[in-house]
Amino acid sequence: MTVTVINPATEETIATLESAGVDETDAAVARAKAAFPAWRAVSPADRGRLLRRLATLVEEHHEELSRIECDNVGKPISGARGEVGMVADVFHFYAGAVDKRHGETIPVAGGIDMTFREPLGVVGLIVPWNFPLNISSWKLGPALATGNTIVLKPAELTPLSAMRLAELALEAGIPEGVLNVVVGKGSIVGQRLVEHPDVAKIGFTGSTEVGRSVMEGAAATIKRVTLELGGKSANVVFADADLEKAAAAAPYAVFDNAGQDCCARSRILVERAAYDRFTELLIQATRSLKVGDPKRDETEMGPLISQSHRETVASFVETTPLFQGDTPEGKGYWFPCTLVEATNDDKVAREEVFGPVAALIPFDDEADAIRIANDTPYGLSGSIWTTDGARALRVARALDTGVLSINSNSSVRVSTPFGGFKQSGFGRELGMHALDGYTEVKNVYYSTEG
Ligand code: NAD
Repeated sequence: MTVTVINPATEETIATLESAGVDETDAAVARAKAAFPAWRAVSPADRGRLLRRLATLVEEHHEELSRIECDNVGKPISGARGEVGMVADVFHFYAGAVDKRHGETIPVAGGIDMTFREPLGVVGLIVPWNFPLNISSWKLGPALATGNTIVLKPAELTPLSAMRLAELALEAGIPEGVLNVVVGKGSIVGQRLVEHPDVAKIGFTGSTEVGRSVMEGAAATIKRVTLELGGKSANVVFADADLEKAAAAAPYAVFDNAGQDCCARSRILVERAAYDRFTELLIQATRSLKVGDPKRDETEMGPLISQSHRETVASFVETTPLFQGDTPEGKGYWFPCTLVEATNDDKVAREEVFGPVAALIPFDDEADAIRIANDTPYGLSGSIWTTDGARALRVARALDTGVLSINSNSSVRVSTPFGGFKQSGFGRELGMHALDGYTEVKNVYYSTEG
């Protein structure tokens, strides 16, 4: 069986790879298991040194990796460059973080009680196609830093950057067997990792549907699981907000990466008093978004990942859009920026579109905004736009979501925790929090009685 890798902007085949099956997956797990005792024995500072070397190699190969992501995902080169920059920063962060997460000593009667953070063992990392290298690094950084060995399964549509990263890891001096990449189908390779008795944990990012099956599959061996799943986040705009600024930012919050972003603020909630003015400004800002060849520096939005995904995205546009942009002629899985008016009960407001379609929903007051924003099974990200600081914090505390920004679209930073509430998953990536997901706490009591 083979995996055909396609450039979604040109529909050209850019690679044909052997697709791994259960045997190859088992072999990768066996290699990771064999490498574990020596890797966990490397001192944290030395693991940090190797990660720092990997970060430097990513910097040295910055343009090459950015072009791989641009060609394979169809993402604009400027965005790809930013993402690869973050990958290097993530490895630098965990290189420095690894010896700063300490155990404790706890006062108890008759002796000394201490805690240690132990690595889990072989960890299966399963990642999606929308941010292939970025999301891999969010998991690899803390997992490698804490002494685990890895089997990384990229999405079959976008395996190229992970394969290149594994080569760079070897070049950095990370020992053979510590980081293994297996390219193949989720239903075969992914599922085998989930079921494999020698895999201690699955770090999964992907859809809520597959996340559910990962959680079920992991139950048989009581595997640890971290799930970073889908979202249906709200961009809440109050009438007292700087409407120009909010409207200029809103398209990037939902059309970035062609809407294929778990953090997409695809429900734009606007206070009724400002609805007409904001809508006018939003259409203006959306119209000026540069859609086209991802290789051009000025491009802001590229195509969708595949033809079948384009069909799924199109099925969400059930009414005449308020606004729909242009797309390039010819080859490529293009889909225009689309704004629709909706209620929170409509399909477009309830389900993750994962494409450039935003639903505009009016609200009456603060309580109504909170009610609508929380009326979703998801809880990943969101934004609040207001000039009233007390209101901003009140609403931020009331929203059931893991990652919020006030007067900004920003969701992700290397040093701050990222993850979801409700059916957007559990566990946190990035920052010091991610280290907890790749270690077990061991408690040791030492009697000092004679
Ligand atoms: P997906 O769930 O289809 O696939 C994700 C990964 O799981 C892929 O590598 C796939 O091969 C693998 N997989 C598929 N079936 C499997 C199975 N039965 N067992 C184990 N692994 C299996 O998701 P996708 O289409 O690649 O990505 C889009 C989804 O990812 C969206 O829902 C998006 O919101 C979500 N996502 C979430 C985050 C986050 O951090 N919360 C970030 C990016 C994407």
